[in-house]
Amino acid sequence: MLTLKGVKVFNGEEFIENKDFHIELSSQEEKELNLDGMWILPGLIDTHTHLRDPGQLWREDVYSGTKAAAHGGITTVFAMPNTTPTIDTEQAVIYLKERAKEASADVKIVGAITKGRQGKELSEMGRMARAGVVGFSDDGAFLNDSALARHAMEYAYELGLPIISHCEEQYLKGGHMREGWYSTLYGVYPTPFAAESIAIAREIELSYLTKAHVHIAHISTKRSVELIRHAKADGINVTCDVCVHHLLFTDKDIEDYDTSKKINPPFPTEEDQKALYEGLEDGTIDAIITDHAPYAVHEKEVEFQAAPFGIIGFETLLNELFMVSKRGIKIEKLLSLVTSKPAKLYGMDGGTIESENPADFTVFDPNDEWIPSPQTLFSKSRNTPFLNKNLKGRVLATFHDGKKVYGDTKWKLM
Ligand SMILES: [Zn+2]
Repeated sequence: MLTLKGVKVFNGEEFIENKDFHIELSSQEEKELNLDGMWILPGLIDTHTHLRDPGQLWREDVYSGTKAAAHGGITTVFAMPNTTPTIDTEQAVIYLKERAKEASADVKIVGAITKGRQGKELSEMGRMARAGVVGFSDDGAFLNDSALARHAMEYAYELGLPIISHCEEQYLKGGHMREGWYSTLYGVYPTPFAAESIAIAREIELSYLTKAHVHIAHISTKRSVELIRHAKADGINVTCDVCVHHLLFTDKDIEDYDTSKKINPPFPTEEDQKALYEGLEDGTIDAIITDHAPYAVHEKEVEFQAAPFGIIGFETLLNELFMVSKRGIKIEKLLSLVTSKPAKLYGMDGGTIESENPADFTVFDPNDEWIPSPQTLFSKSRNTPFLNKNLKGRVLATFHDGKKVYGDTKWKLM
């Protein structure tokens, strides 16, 4: 038995101060660690990530990806299906499940809505549901065909699973940052906010028509927040999440043309970001995600317009939430959006600490610091604007399913 003394335990909603926390370990030895003021958090849940497995293993794989997750305190990840090949068959789901058995986190699989995410023909939705997917998404692409989207929602409703929708209207998309003052100033071809909100409006109407649960991924504009707030008030079964980096950066930050800041959806304008904060405060937004999207150094070391879209986020999630809290949202609220709230949203266990065993939690020191670098990151990729920056707060250890999945030197003893 290991006893962590004097810690602050987060139960999914609030901190319980100055507690002793007991962990059963396989070794018989009794041990005590004095961890005054450190945080014990339930293993974090990240419901939108790209593990690049199968087929894009130079960027990430199930093992490097979940090791990076554990290093960030995350013990449950949703793997999006935009892999090579696409996760669009029962067999592909079984393959990934098999790979994930040895992973450092619980990997939940999201199946594609359409074959190859091509938007032409529905995938094996029923068979994938039987194989255990937690939802369906053509993430990275919007399903333009509204009749097909309707059918997909009807099936998803019958199967009791959500459609996780990447909202981007087909003719308005294609820019490299959000349209506005700064896109003009920086000379970067932009995408207007309406590309997102038009697609969301369609999803809301189809959810109303079919009763399906439609979860809108990574909202980034004021109009998106307003539409979803309104739909929820009307009793429509729509939920949404926001990327943590959209709460920290705006379109102005593209000034250095750093390709690690090139993402989709793009950084919001200041006005849009303000609306995202309001959406967090009033409960319009149901979860915070990293959208961890690794790209190799050679893929991102190109000019801004040619770079692919994506940012890694597992290992800096808690540091970023800490920064967001400095802008006036309570840290407890932010932590609930990566623990108890996403667990409830998808009807999963976890996200709380009901008992200490089997251990599924992370130990975070809010006063320590660390620097993400090629030496310290567990991800295969480096595409983060926080590279070589000093960050406040550090994960000391993460336990998942009763086992230690990450620990710095102090924890090597165990
Ligand atoms: Zn997406």
